[in-house]
Amino acid sequence: VQLAGLTVDTRHAIGGERIASAETFDSVSPIDGSVLAHISRGGAAEVDAAVQAARAAFPAWRDLGPDGRGELLHRLADLVEANLEQLANLETLDNGSLLRSHRRGVMPRVAMNIRFFADWAINRLHHEVWQTRGHDNNVSWDPSGVAALITPWNAPLMLATWKIGPALAAGDTVVLKPAEWTPLSASVFADLANEAGIPPGVVNVVQGFGAEAGAALVAHPGIARISFTGSVPTAKAIARSAADNLTPVSFELGGKSPLIVTDDADLDLAVDLAVEQYDNAGQVCLSGTRLLVHEGVADRFAEAFAARVAALRQGDPREDETQIGPQIHRVHLERIDGFVQRAREGGARIAFGGGPNDELGGLYYRPTLVVDAAPGSEILTAEVFGPVLAMQTFATDEEAVELANGTEFGLAAVVVCGDRARAERLTKNLVAGTIWVNCFFVRDLAAPFGGSKKSGIGREGGTWSFDFYADVKNTVYAPT
Ligand code: ADP
Repeated sequence: VQLAGLTVDTRHAIGGERIASAETFDSVSPIDGSVLAHISRGGAAEVDAAVQAARAAFPAWRDLGPDGRGELLHRLADLVEANLEQLANLETLDNGSLLRSHRRGVMPRVAMNIRFFADWAINRLHHEVWQTRGHDNNVSWDPSGVAALITPWNAPLMLATWKIGPALAAGDTVVLKPAEWTPLSASVFADLANEAGIPPGVVNVVQGFGAEAGAALVAHPGIARISFTGSVPTAKAIARSAADNLTPVSFELGGKSPLIVTDDADLDLAVDLAVEQYDNAGQVCLSGTRLLVHEGVADRFAEAFAARVAALRQGDPREDETQIGPQIHRVHLERIDGFVQRAREGGARIAFGGGPNDELGGLYYRPTLVVDAAPGSEILTAEVFGPVLAMQTFATDEEAVELANGTEFGLAAVVVCGDRARAERLTKNLVAGTIWVNCFFVRDLAAPFGGSKKSGIGREGGTWSFDFYADVKNTVYAPT
């Protein structure tokens, strides 16, 4: 089909060919509910074909070496950049995130994900040598085989390339199973990989549902690595499958991250950062959805925050002025509303929001703040993955840390604090993969990203990505 100025193939991309399944599923736009495409619905047979193709392509891709691979990856990044406007529009149609942010932030970052790891392969792929009693230890980071990549719908191509970039640079070939709610950008990406001259079978895309294509892929004995971004229940299912083949996994999962505001914090900054937690309609794993505010400044903070949120413009994500778009899917909107209604029934107060936006209809959910929720209740501990924040107050920094650490998650934390030494004391015992102090969402591609506790296994980014996708080998040479 033709969408957003691109030809989107609705079939799988396997071994450089396009292969259809007998059955299809609909890709529906969250903007207006229109059916964008009928996508091939893959299962075990398609997955097996893709893994075989990726295995067949592996030796030549490995032997191309880091420079050869890096050069092709740069060509692929060039093609992403050449199609940036179309890709931004396509992704917005498919997942409803703001076009503005796809244009300015997300798609440039897609290209960067590929370029960064291409340069890593060219300039600094690890190789260490040291001596033991005259023997050379020769440690190399070798390609490991086929990487199975499973990605979610909230930032489809960004999260796919955050895995594809390092996997390909490290010399692995890949089979990607994108989320069934957002299949389109991955399909176009497979064409771009082809056009860039990346050999057939190096990048394969199998479309379909998690329980079918996804489950078949992670259980396949022919894969060497599983990298997954998604929910905790799915991660557990994948870990069980992976156990049968002892396939190494990298998991980036959910969060219920705290945003701590101390009594000496710059409150304007705190409000700015709190408002940012509604970005992507709250469908961001690392967003700071628990506002932990010092009791001495809580009223002033809450008032300023409410005023700022009231002025947020909700609507069509393609319009430049829009600040909050729709949720991804009806099923997801109802899930979000369920959390809010259960909190209300449990005695919490809804400070603002608290339901779908009736003026807009469709999948628009009003930015919501829950206050006075019972300690330990669901709304304070479970990931909502929508524009729903909950506020709690604290009296001492020790109490803030205890509250902050009081969930099963540990993905991120935000600290807004007027004093560097105090911030250092606060962050010291926070359990989280990433902590931002007086800022948010600054992500260097070389820095480790991932979660503690139930928020994940392993880290992605820079050297951590390479350590995961590569097979580390030590060859010891006797003295000559
Ligand atoms: P979300 O809450 O973001 O939808 P999921 O974990 O359900 O999170 O989905 C993330 C990805 O995992 C999607 O691509 C989905 O198809 C896939 N998936 C879901 N269930 C399974 C499974 N049992 N095995 C493998 N992949 C799965």
